[in-house]
Amino acid sequence: MSKGENGGPCAQCNALCCRNYSVCLTAHDLQRLFKKTGRLDWAAAAKAESVKNPPFHSFFLFEKGIFKEYFLCLARDASEACVFLGEKNKCVVYSSRPTVCRMYPFELDSTGSLKYKKNHRCPVLWKLGGQEVERFLADARQRQRELDDYGVWCREWNALHARKKGLKSFLKFLLGKAKEEGEH
Ligand code: SF4
Ligand code: SF4
Repeated sequence: MSKGENGGPCAQCNALCCRNYSVCLTAHDLQRLFKKTGRLDWAAAAKAESVKNPPFHSFFLFEKGIFKEYFLCLARDASEACVFLGEKNKCVVYSSRPTVCRMYPFELDSTGSLKYKKNHRCPVLWKLGGQEVERFLADARQRQRELDDYGVWCREWNALHARKKGLKSFLKFLLGKAKEEGEH
């Protein structure tokens, strides 16, 4: 997703992927981006009904007496582009970009092979060499592990903490979990 320092196949594209999707995060994405930026103001709670085809786990916040369901996403600017999309369509956090960005426009099929995402909007017909396929597969496997962890932590949050705490607490909770896991 989006251009890195060397352009590559994305060089001719207007960063369509960075302008058209809600980028959902895992706890590990959050941790890497926090290390990179030193802040968390780019993390947003997107209402469940506003995220099309959400790929994974949601969390709840208790607001005005009711539970509301959210997905953890990157914030978007006034033009709906990702907040990390910089000048000349460069991703300003490229080395720490979320795993879903690293994977785009691919995902794993049921056999563990790469396939294009359904309804993707990438204009490039990618011709991947062996090393690139391996890179995408490694990212996909890492993403799956991180999604599994994130699912466990969302369920823990929803069961134990959602009633009393807000988004900032959820972010700190996730950072704590990811750190704890990294220390084992
Ligand atoms: S839509 Fe495709 S070509 Fe365009 S920036 Fe994203 S991955 Fe690259
Ligand atoms: S984090 Fe970077 S690659 Fe991902 S959507 Fe934002 S600008 Fe694009």
